[in-house]
Amino acid sequence: MKIAKDSVVRFHYTVSESGQEPIETSKEREPLAILIGHGNIIPGLEKALDGHEAGDSFGVDVPAAEAYGERREGLTQRVPKKHFGDQKLAPGQQVVLNTNFGPRAVTIEKVGMSVVDVDLNHPMAGKDLHFDIEIVDVREAGKEELEHGHVHGDGGHEH
Ligand code: ZN
Repeated sequence: MKIAKDSVVRFHYTVSESGQEPIETSKEREPLAILIGHGNIIPGLEKALDGHEAGDSFGVDVPAAEAYGERREGLTQRVPKKHFGDQKLAPGQQVVLNTNFGPRAVTIEKVGMSVVDVDLNHPMAGKDLHFDIEIVDVREAGKEELEHGHVHGDGGHEH
């Protein structure tokens, strides 16, 4: 079957910044399982998957606006150093910070004596990305999956 809204798709991906070495790949892990049409992945990738079927391999360029969005200015936040525990901190480094909204990847901008300035932009914000995709399988979502808005079972939520 072809991928459409409410399909459950399992796929492998390799992502790079356009024209550069891969940043991340799912190849050594289980494929990613996604319910299509529910905003679970970046819009550009969801669009690219549409109409493909199991066994398809393809590459797609996703501009920043269709990926993690453009970088926004003014997203710098000053955080007490104690929130970072004992880890060594340097500008440009990416760390995961526990925020009120759950864990979030941030980039260190400046390290002071007792506070740290971090950039809350998504690390991939403002980047044009290239994905290489391999569709593993496609199935229709179950009723419960549609109600929850995510995949259950293989590669999905367990509850
Ligand atoms: Zn669920």
